[in-house]
Formats: sequence, structure tokens, C-alpha cells
Amino acid sequence: MIGLLARREITSQEVTHSVLKRIDAVEDRIKAYVTVTRDEAAVMAAEADRKISSGQFSPLTGIPVAIKDNMCTRGIVTTCSSKILRNFVPPYESAVTSRLKESGYVLTGKTNLDEFAMGSSTENSGFHTTRNPWDTGRIPGGSSGGSAAAVAADECIAALGSDTGGSIRQPASLCGVVGLKPTYGRVSRYGLVAFASSLDQIGPITKNVRDSAILLNLIAGRDPRDSTSAPHPVPDFTAVLGREIKGLRVGIPKEYFIEGMDREVDAAVRAAIRQLETLGAIPVEVSLPHTGHAVATYYVLATSEASSNLARYDGVKYGIRTEGKDLLEMYVKSRSEGFGPEVKRRIMLGTYTLSSGYYDAYYKKAQQVRTLIMRDFEEAFKKADVIATPTSPTPAFRLGEKTEDPLQMYLADIFTISVNLAGVPGISIPCGFTSENLPIGLQLIGRHFDEETILRVSYAYEQSQEWSKRRPSL
Ligand code: GLN
Repeated sequence: MIGLLARREITSQEVTHSVLKRIDAVEDRIKAYVTVTRDEAAVMAAEADRKISSGQFSPLTGIPVAIKDNMCTRGIVTTCSSKILRNFVPPYESAVTSRLKESGYVLTGKTNLDEFAMGSSTENSGFHTTRNPWDTGRIPGGSSGGSAAAVAADECIAALGSDTGGSIRQPASLCGVVGLKPTYGRVSRYGLVAFASSLDQIGPITKNVRDSAILLNLIAGRDPRDSTSAPHPVPDFTAVLGREIKGLRVGIPKEYFIEGMDREVDAAVRAAIRQLETLGAIPVEVSLPHTGHAVATYYVLATSEASSNLARYDGVKYGIRTEGKDLLEMYVKSRSEGFGPEVKRRIMLGTYTLSSGYYDAYYKKAQQVRTLIMRDFEEAFKKADVIATPTSPTPAFRLGEKTEDPLQMYLADIFTISVNLAGVPGISIPCGFTSENLPIGLQLIGRHFDEETILRVSYAYEQSQEWSKRRPSL
């Protein structure tokens, strides 16, 4: 696509028009978007075509991209799929979308998510559930389910998601696309609505590995407006694509291939590891001994941080207000009506774990376990250059299958959560299909700030397979 635009064989307005037509054709069945920005897209596409004809363009100029609806877009409603923000129009642009704007991208719209990014299926959206393009009776994963489904259903060329415990990688895996969570600090979180600030990170969801590297090139780098964004130099992530992977050590954590995992997922991931071996990589067994504690640790830390971050939605500063007879009643009514059940559950859990008397038992303990999980990765990366695991223990599940049981839902992230706790980068790439034609994802985890190696291995694998070429029939 990028080549076609640069050679002017096709214009951005034509590409954008065809994407909008595709949205018209399938969006009723997929519901990937909260807002489709048709008018803005038309203006941006015309502007991109002007840039391209004047010879000033980057690889993203004129490309239709969808943005998860928890990243602020100036003048365009940004809801976080929450009723409490349904009328919130940000007066400023997030760092990532500012970067994309400078490069001349075309915004197709804001995609659906689990409310405030809390969930694994988009069923917690305050508006509607997104459907999996491979089987519309199933969930697309979450919380960036709208972004992943939009990419898979060709309702955009690429998208941005955010990942706190798996929200880019798990939906990418379940929708058969590529999802990259960069190292914590690699990408500025300025203008990303905060869920759990020590874990949140923004990254690309794309149809292939090259597009992922292109997008990461644009969004990575230090930003003085986010003090957690890192000063590390940003390499050209496309430069490593095509380099061979001979001699690279691929760690296989024994704790990740466990009893109870879906049989077809297990088989596909093992086959993918064998394929990496065929390409010259060397498999080595590694151990991440504290894996069993990751989900519990995450749910203490993430809910604690969320309870604090979400305190700002009080009916005064942002979003909707429900009037009451006094200030307190106004707060209570605004929050009771504005937040959905999962968000309330997490605020209560987080408030509890932070309260005096429980702080040491829960929050402090969880921080200590987080340190152990980080050390597990440090040890494992002495033996391995990348770590390979399944992304999700199962393929996409049916709508409603886990909504009654939050614990079952939380376990959907068992393989992705430790990566956020350790702050290391992880990518999910397609590595097969089940007998019911549902996509399966392979997760590759790298050292801090070494997105290059996971992109390089992903690209080598992708080029040796046909998985990324399959499309859902809609
Ligand atoms: N599914 C996890 C949760 O519910 C992770 C969500 C995310 O990464 N934003 O918290």
C-alpha cells in the first residue's frame, strides 16, 4: 500500500474511500468503532495527497489508521467506551496521534474497547460488544478488541491499541493480526487515558510485521510531557527485518506449557517453535518460576492504580454529571450511573488494597512479587535472546461465555500479564488456525528496549509461513 501511494499508482483519497466503503459494508456485523470520522478522514486524505505530490511524505502519509478510543484526539469525542465520558471532547491531542498527524496519516475513527481498557473481550464496553471477524458469534479479545477487529476486517490499514496486561497482544492473537507492546517507557503515554500507569503502554496492531515496525518508528521516543518515557535512542525498526536468525536462542519457559491449555493452541505454538529452529534459531528451556503469581499480582497492582486514576471522574472535571441535592450526592450519582460493573468492581478492589491496614498485606506484597517476576525475566534472558510462548491459552471464546465469571476472564491474560509487570516488550503474530478456522497467536518476548530482536524473529517467521495472508470471509 505504502509503495503504491509513493509511486502514485493510487491516491490516499482512493484508499480512504475504499476503507470507508468497507466500513459501510461490514461494520454492522463487526461494530469495531465507537466513532467513524468520515469527514476528518476525507480532509486528511486530501491533505495527504497534496503532501505526496509535493514529495514530502513518510511511510504513513495517506494511510487510514484507527485509534483506540482511550487516546485523546483534539476536537473528536474520546469515550474510553465509558458512559461517564460519552460526551468528552479532548481539548488536546495525545503524543502518539500528534506524531501520526505530523506524518500525514488519515484517521478512520476511534475504536471500541472494554470500558477504560478493563477486560479481555470488549464485552465490558459501555456501548456495544465488538465481534470477531473470523466468527461473529465470538469475542475479538480485549481490551483493544475494536482495533484488532478493524484491522482483521479491513476496516482500516493499521491501528493503535494500548496494553496494560495483554490488551494489544491478546486481541491481535484472537483476530489473526500482529500486535506489539513496546517496552514500558518506549512510547509516550501523554494523552492516553490512564488505567494502571506503571503498566500501560501504547503500540501498533497491524496486518504484518513490517507495518508494525513502521508504526513503532513513528510513535517511539522520549517526550518531555511523559516523565516515564525513556531517553533511549530509537533505532530504525525496519532495518533489522530480513536479517537471518541463525544462532539466536529462543527460550521456552516450562511454566507456560501447562495442563489445561487448549490442545490446538499448544500444537500450533510448538510447531511455530520448530519452524524457528528450521530457520536456524536454537531452542533452550528457560524457567519463569513466579509465573503462577502473575495474575494475582497484576490484579492487586492494576486495580490499586486504577482506583487512584479513576478518582478524577467526579462529575465536575470530565464527562457527564448527574445532579444531586448536594455535592456528595452529585458525586455518588455521577459515578454510579457513569461507570459499568467491571470498572466499579475494580475501583472497589483497588480502594480496598490501598486502604490502611491492608496496604502492606496486598499492595506492598504485590510490589515485592513484581520484583521477583522481573528477576525471573533477567535470569531467563541470560540464557535466551527471545522467549516464545502462546499469546492466549485458548482461541476466541463465544460471546457471553465468560461474562458471569470474572476470574475466568482474568485468566485469559495468564500469558501476557508478566510481560507488563516486567516492563519488557512482547509481540503476538499469527501462527496457525484451529479446526474451526480461528486464529492462534505466538508471543515473542524481548529484553528491555530490544524490540528489534522480536521484530526480526517475527518477520523471519512470518515470511516463512502463509498465516498472515489468510483473511476472514465476511
Ligand atoms: N485484560 C486485562 C485486564 O482486564 C488487561 C487489560 C489491558 O491490557 N488493558 O485488566
